Amino acid sequence: MLTQAPRGTRDILPEEAGKWVFLENKFREICRRFSYKEIRTPVFEHTELFQRGVGETTDIVEKEMYTFLDKSGRSITLKPEGTAPTARAYIEHKLYTQTLPVKLFYIIPGFRYERPQAGRLREFHQFGIEAFGSESPHIDVEVMLLAVSFLKNLGLDDIKLHINSIGCETCRSDYVKALKDFLGESRQNLCDTCRSRLDRNPLRVLDCKNPDCQRTLKEAPAVLDFLCEKCKTHFETIKNDLSLLKIDYKVDPRIVRGLDYYTRTVFEIISDDLGAQSTVCGGGRYDNLVQECGGPTTPAAGFGMGIERLITILEKKNLLKIPEEKVDVYIAPLTEEYGNTALRLLYRFRENGISAETDYLKRSLKAQMKYADKIMAQFVVLIGEEEESSGFYTVKDLATGQQQKVAGDKIFEYISNNIRKGCGEVE
Ligand code: ATP
Ligand code: MG
Repeated sequence: MLTQAPRGTRDILPEEAGKWVFLENKFREICRRFSYKEIRTPVFEHTELFQRGVGETTDIVEKEMYTFLDKSGRSITLKPEGTAPTARAYIEHKLYTQTLPVKLFYIIPGFRYERPQAGRLREFHQFGIEAFGSESPHIDVEVMLLAVSFLKNLGLDDIKLHINSIGCETCRSDYVKALKDFLGESRQNLCDTCRSRLDRNPLRVLDCKNPDCQRTLKEAPAVLDFLCEKCKTHFETIKNDLSLLKIDYKVDPRIVRGLDYYTRTVFEIISDDLGAQSTVCGGGRYDNLVQECGGPTTPAAGFGMGIERLITILEKKNLLKIPEEKVDVYIAPLTEEYGNTALRLLYRFRENGISAETDYLKRSLKAQMKYADKIMAQFVVLIGEEEESSGFYTVKDLATGQQQKVAGDKIFEYISNNIRKGCGEVE
């Protein structure tokens, strides 16, 4: 127990952390280009927010939430997703009084009590965006395109964008009725979970991965045949935009998404490299969420993208090669006697923006040279009797083996000018 992280959680060790920083920087960059600004919300919220926002009959709220009572008896939940907290912050801070649309992005941990397996963790991470205040279908497209551009820029050119519309309250109720009638007749072919979903949330059945349910659903009425004129036009505009922008997509009438707040547009980005958990990104429009959570009527759209799943795809394709961090200078005192000089120099390098390291394990000079190699130091600065008396440092370039004498303070300039670029920096 003591030496094992809780089931479904993972440590991100230093070798891997570089990949996360790289992806986070890439995500921030694409958000900048699309004018989305960062928001940071708490790791936990009042449980009610998710019950209300995500929906009582969703898998998340029914069985996946990390909920507990705090010491004053309040029900608290570790956030299972990022949209409801962002909507809560949008309302609390009256962001709707700002110029619309308000476009936000976040990088968050999410917590869901799921059965851990490939692509499914109990603590996972998401990149997400939300655009509040516009009902234009062009915003739905912008949200999809931010995700698609981000993935394509990372080198993923075979991802697939699947889109659907689940209509608005008006047309969806006709559809839900038709679906319920259909499923009622095929009740015996559905899995237990879906049988119980039938009355409470029949749309969810469409999302079931059980092969028997999938087979039954082949004949099910399609939501797109039930859209009202407004929803139809909205969906047509999205398809036209995507064609105009030459973005491949597929209409998939099965997509309903796992969260209740969606209206009209829903979409998923799928990768064949993910196996069973093939969705790397899911999103859509949610025109009722802000109002449902106590704010003014606010149309909105957004997505959430699983970072662990993204890393899995990129690694399978060998697209996440981050060079190991190197050290610019290793400072080697020949004996302990020169420790103070070494120490002063060490911090002066660091102040001058040069990464510098020295020995903390009383190593012999030979062992120090080995260590310098190990940490991939580009230069070694030797400090001994000669260096102290002459005011010149002996600088050795470990790659070429060349040795050079450099006068006192000139050493910072010398090292700065000679650092080989390209290491630790990835384009
Ligand atoms: P799934 O179909 O995999 O259950 P979901 O519909 O529950 O996904 P969303 O709530 O839309 O997923 O979350 C968006 C993205 O977050 C998913 O596409 C996925 O990449 C990631 N994600 C969701 N749950 C997990 C989890 N338990 N572990 C790892 N990643 C997850
Ligand atoms: Mg899920």
